[in-house]
Amino acid sequence: DHRPGRVVRVDRGVCTVLSADGTVRASLAGAILSAAAKDPVNLPCAGDWVALRVWPDDRITIEAVLPRRTAIVRRTSGKDSVGQVLAANLDAAAVVEPMHPSPDAGRIERLLALTWESGAQPLVVLTKCDLAADPAAVVAGLAHVAPGVEVLAVSAQRGDGLAALRPFVAAGRTLALLGPSGAGKSSLVNALAGTVVMGTQAIRRADGKGRHTTTYRALIPIPGGGAVLDTPGMRAVGLLDAEEGLGRAFADVADLAAACRFADCRHDDEPGCAVRAALESGDLPPRRLESWRKLQRENAFEKRRREARL
Ligand code: GDP
Ligand code: ZN
Repeated sequence: DHRPGRVVRVDRGVCTVLSADGTVRASLAGAILSAAAKDPVNLPCAGDWVALRVWPDDRITIEAVLPRRTAIVRRTSGKDSVGQVLAANLDAAAVVEPMHPSPDAGRIERLLALTWESGAQPLVVLTKCDLAADPAAVVAGLAHVAPGVEVLAVSAQRGDGLAALRPFVAAGRTLALLGPSGAGKSSLVNALAGTVVMGTQAIRRADGKGRHTTTYRALIPIPGGGAVLDTPGMRAVGLLDAEEGLGRAFADVADLAAACRFADCRHDDEPGCAVRAALESGDLPPRRLESWRKLQRENAFEKRRREARL
């Protein structure tokens, strides 16, 4: 007797699951534990659809994790190149960065690569626009950071820009918020939910860096039928196997590289190099090329390490 449910959060092997019977607590069946011992990506995570089994003594177990439509997978910080699923079955994922003091371009690019790789629609949400002198200029400054990705400027405090976010949490849709602690994710969740569901942090110092308050990933229902998935402040988000995601996050550079005369062009001093030409004309900022190279190196290294382990 199996019934479906959706994982809301996971705490040390115990899952909170939303099912037709309401919110229940479920432990993991042996089959899941052994699959997870082989590869931690097999562990249920927030957003997963699962098959629940209710035992005669009312205990509930998760017997299976249903195939994921989309999944955000990061590399865990351990020695092995092992993946961890941060969120599953998202329709869209927002890379959240504060407008003030200034958004971190490298972090946005890294998280966009992860999001493209996941299959979910990426977007960038710049928070605290009430603190920026010229919000439009900050958005325009991301032209060479998030090309082809919608960039929204919002203020949870004033409510600016929230209307543009609403479609992403419309009935049946799930939006994840990815970004560092202090970016204003919890405030955004509360603003979208219309009530205080997440504890926010007080500004600790004048530099705007906050204390870490969100301690778990959780799926939060939004009035109207959608859901938002908040993630704790993510300091280290390593790439593991995100070649395709990188290609999409850096489509501008990839397109240039495809136009180089030599297929194996290193974009150093080869003749007919379209990348160098774009650098020289100013169409491609040097920072962008460096970032692409850095993430490609990291991804290739991890991929090799992973293959060597398997
Ligand atoms: P989280 O760690 O990403 O969940 O960030 P929080 O939601 O806890 O917000 C971090 C700090 O930024 C808190 O002190 C919030 O009050 C502040 N903050 C969040 N959103 C806004 C905003 O729209 N405008 C301003 N001025 N401050 C904000
Ligand atoms: Zn080249």
